[in-house]
Amino acid sequence: GADRTKNVLILMSDTGGGHRASAEAIRDAFKMEFGDEYKIFVKDVWKEYTGWPLNNMENQYKFMVKHVQLWSVAFHGTSPRWIHGVYLAAIAAFYAKEVEAGLMEYKPDIIISVHPLMQHIPLWVLKWQGLQKKVIFVTVITDLNTCHRTWFHPAVKRCYCPSEEVSKRALLDGLEQNQVRVFGLPVRPSFARAVLNKDDLRIELELDPVLPAVLLMGGGEGMGPVKKTAKALAESLFVNETGKPLGQMVVICGRNKSLASSLESLEWKIPVKVRGFETQMQKWMGACDCIITKAGPGTIAEALIRGLPIILNDYIPGQEKGNVPYVVGNGAGVFTRSPKETARIVAGWFSTNADELKKMSENALKLAQPEAVFDIVRDVHDLAGQRGPLADMPYALTSSFSNLI
Ligand code: UDP
Repeated sequence: GADRTKNVLILMSDTGGGHRASAEAIRDAFKMEFGDEYKIFVKDVWKEYTGWPLNNMENQYKFMVKHVQLWSVAFHGTSPRWIHGVYLAAIAAFYAKEVEAGLMEYKPDIIISVHPLMQHIPLWVLKWQGLQKKVIFVTVITDLNTCHRTWFHPAVKRCYCPSEEVSKRALLDGLEQNQVRVFGLPVRPSFARAVLNKDDLRIELELDPVLPAVLLMGGGEGMGPVKKTAKALAESLFVNETGKPLGQMVVICGRNKSLASSLESLEWKIPVKVRGFETQMQKWMGACDCIITKAGPGTIAEALIRGLPIILNDYIPGQEKGNVPYVVGNGAGVFTRSPKETARIVAGWFSTNADELKKMSENALKLAQPEAVFDIVRDVHDLAGQRGPLADMPYALTSSFSNLI
């Protein structure tokens, strides 16, 4: 009937920490807003069902080389969309049965893709299955600025963009205004909705109650020049004349265990906390006054919500590059690869240059979109409502899809 629980399938991939964080943010927001109305599945469908080559450049290459005609078509085509369209369609045909099986198992009423390579194939499968009108397909883009064109697919019901910059790209790439919404990057509700008091957090986390604190990290994997920066900070935040520290430092190493153990073995002139993978990042960010990180979209969006000025010290080429001008251009932080320069800036913020720290913190808060994830799930809920009662058994009528190819 009309009020049965609706199934939501979130398509993600476990590359990096960001996609999973966004997928889980959406899942948690659905639960908070709508309780049992929706059943949420977060799945890496390709990995589970196909040994899909898209996560794996080596297999992808092998696939292309085995299909020489496709290789040549891809290289001599003219339009990038046409190229990846043909390429992905060919892979869709190759793996259709498995992807179809994956989609069928979860019987989704709604599919949410949070991955740049998870629009084309599921949409083809839906089309071939005659399910395009029955299943709501939306994309949630998780790159803040320079995202790949495969994120944009004209057949989606909605394309949720984290920033105006991305929405402009979507419109240029042929999406219609009524398909595009700009709410922000989805951040875990535990982050967005947390009511945190810095003084309490300092006590709970056993930090110095008064010294300004800098948080140093490098994404889920603890990447970037963390160790060198920690050493430079320990120098710059220690005042030789007085023999006293200007500030304290928290280093979160994520899954990088060797980084954590090598930092723990050092002697520090200032108060330092070295941590591994933390599950309550909102608390550590809430206890600190600024952050140093590589340009991961998840970490940036979270830091903005906590009003932390950001020093970006690295980025993954391609998708993270555009996050740098997003932060710097909006006055919420600075970019430098130099650990010495980073240390100098933080020492300034904690002494003579406190005004800049304050200004950047205000700019960060202006840029923050803590409600984004709730806006997204409410909009999806509205779409599901507009569609009226979804068919009871939308998956009962399966065409002989495999005969088509
Ligand atoms: N993170 C975490 N605990 C840690 C380190 C990182 O929960 O110890 C989270 C962080 O809060 C963010 C995500 O991992 O949500 C990292 O995503 P980002 O997009 O910044 O970088 P990625 O790791 O995907 O390259």
